[in-house]
Amino acid sequence: MSLDLKSLIRTIPDYPKKGILFRDITTLIEHPEGFRQSVEAIAAAHRGIGITHVAGIEARGFIFGAGVAIAMGVGFIPIRKKGKLPGQTLGQNYALEYGVDTIEIHADVLDAGDRVLLVDDLIATGGTALAAVSLIRRTGATIEHAGFVIDLVDLPGGQRLRDQGIALTSLVEFE
Ligand code: 5GP
Repeated sequence: MSLDLKSLIRTIPDYPKKGILFRDITTLIEHPEGFRQSVEAIAAAHRGIGITHVAGIEARGFIFGAGVAIAMGVGFIPIRKKGKLPGQTLGQNYALEYGVDTIEIHADVLDAGDRVLLVDDLIATGGTALAAVSLIRRTGATIEHAGFVIDLVDLPGGQRLRDQGIALTSLVEFE
């Protein structure tokens, strides 16, 4: 039976700062069937289209992305905050509300001919996901699909990804 995944996501007001409604996925992943169904739904939406790798964004994208990679029978690629990957990296800056942050990917992990599915827990402004897309493209690989547990649909992230030629799957929408 398919669960109401939205009801398993807890909302915490004023985290990480006043006025923010934080959508907390720890209550979803603590529920074995909720976790399994989230991972399986993202995997099911992307079978049979030649995906060779799942890339997950640190840190909550690792939780779902690793599960999706196993469910699809493909390898997992971590996209990490600056300075965390041990090999040679490519880096991409992206804007935060105040300042900039950098994410990195191993430079030699993908080749032309690879087809990547990007996974993260949530898309909001799209800044993080777009930085990940540009990193993946700089490796020479193809990325045309991204899967999220949550889309904050009042924010422009989904449209910004579609404008980059990325088809987006999300399981739960919040206004
Ligand atoms: P964006 O770059 O699209 O503005 O923000 C998305 C990134 O911030 C994702 O990596 C996501 O993990 C994190 N994020 C922002 N707001 C929330 C939230 O309310 N809940 C969760 N779980 N993650 C969030």
